[in-house]
Amino acid sequence: MRRYRGAVNGSSFQTPRRARVLRIRERLRTVYGTPQMRPHGDAIAELVLTVLSQSTNDRNRDVAYLRLRARFATWEQVRDAPLAEIEEAIRPGGISRIKSARIQAILRAISSDGDAPRERERALSLEWLARAPLAQARDYLVGLPGVGRKTAACVLLFAYGLHEVPVDTHVSRVAARLGLLPARASSRELHDRMLALTPRGGELELHVNLLRHGRRTCHARGPACERCALARMCPSAARFLARRPAQPRGSTAKAITA
Ligand code: SF4
Repeated sequence: MRRYRGAVNGSSFQTPRRARVLRIRERLRTVYGTPQMRPHGDAIAELVLTVLSQSTNDRNRDVAYLRLRARFATWEQVRDAPLAEIEEAIRPGGISRIKSARIQAILRAISSDGDAPRERERALSLEWLARAPLAQARDYLVGLPGVGRKTAACVLLFAYGLHEVPVDTHVSRVAARLGLLPARASSRELHDRMLALTPRGGELELHVNLLRHGRRTCHARGPACERCALARMCPSAARFLARRPAQPRGSTAKAITA
């Protein structure tokens, strides 16, 4: 059986062919299905969620978010509240002093943006992003305090279903091992390359399925290549398998590159 030979490091990286990207997407879909998630339409909520998700797990992030929403009826109230009250509300999410300050900094920046259309100045709203040219919406978001390209992509994709693909640590690791992205590149380059690989309408699926694969199989340390459904098309599989201890005699494990 043919083994894929592709460049996987940054210096010799070659952009994968469209057909190869398609095969990987299809294989991921057979394993993880097609994710269904409607855009929720609340860009500010997505910004706050991404701040709360830093250095914690999904459960603690969600607990912190729900406590914040239960305590404050509007985002304006969150913006104007004493910092200690925000900090107390989101404490289950960890590093609450840093996160509370960051959340208020973002909300205040949205309120006080001098270049914003008047619609934005009256109320704390980012609904205009859904109607703006994509590049303008992205540039605005990465201009907010502490907001990078990944957070901007989360907002534009999850809130409005726009053409963006968040490249987080799982997505970048799996994509690099599969030869879809270079192993080392700036966040901006990774996001630009991922967008170029992704057909319109396929953003959510590619992001979610690469993320799932990174969490369940292609772990940061010790990827489970021996049971990976993508092993035969993965240029990194042989390298990882070579590091495994020798199989005991009589093992039924198959050499996946045979
Ligand atoms: S074969 Fe190994 S390195 Fe490649 S995608 Fe699967 S788990 Fe990751």
